[in-house]
Amino acid sequence: MTDEVQIKRILVVAAHPDDAEFGAAGSIFLWTSQGKEVFYLICTNGDKGTADRTITPQRLAIIREEEQHAAAKTLGVKEVVFLRHPDGYLEYTNEFRGQVVRYIRKFKPELVLTSDPLRKYFWHHDHRIAGTVVLDAVYPYARDHLYYPEHIAEGLSTHAVRELYLWGSEEPDTFIDITGVFDKKIEALRCHVSQVGDITADGMRERVSWRASDAGKKIGVPLAESFKKVIMPF
Ligand SMILES: [Zn+2]
Repeated sequence: MTDEVQIKRILVVAAHPDDAEFGAAGSIFLWTSQGKEVFYLICTNGDKGTADRTITPQRLAIIREEEQHAAAKTLGVKEVVFLRHPDGYLEYTNEFRGQVVRYIRKFKPELVLTSDPLRKYFWHHDHRIAGTVVLDAVYPYARDHLYYPEHIAEGLSTHAVRELYLWGSEEPDTFIDITGVFDKKIEALRCHVSQVGDITADGMRERVSWRASDAGKKIGVPLAESFKKVIMPF
């Protein structure tokens, strides 16, 4: 984040439970440790993310919310909101965009994190849709009062987000040293038992450290998270 912009509140918009932790858990823990307020907005209920044929989507959705709450608690996240769209069927609609706008206007983050919608080829449909909707929600919809005027009538005010950090980007330009908090990232990821299984801390470290170490090389530290930064020009 730039020095000029004072970041006090951060909104993380994730397509699925566990995306925020894979993409940004280390950074999120650093920010909450510095006293910044972090909010989660989880777009889908994650009810398709299993290879277990004995579990119903309804039961899986409940488990995934519990796991997401546990991971968020580990990282010091202030509030988690679930929009509960069906996993894999997230669509760009006025209604969904309005939901994202509503929470931007409610939480008033200076910084918003989400998945980079412009990643090519191998990328989950929901990650593309969520990222696209967030970019549009930030500008112009959350900023300008004539969009979703029902929010204003309810007492919410417009809000101009200052910066966006996009995870999963093929053109990352912002790297955050998470070497000192990597264990917190591992701990948060291990909360997602229905996704990662009963994995040991060492097993999880092995699974995610190659990417973190790749990113770390860019800034000369052992482990980092990487983002594409977008500074809003207003
Ligand atoms: Zn995902």
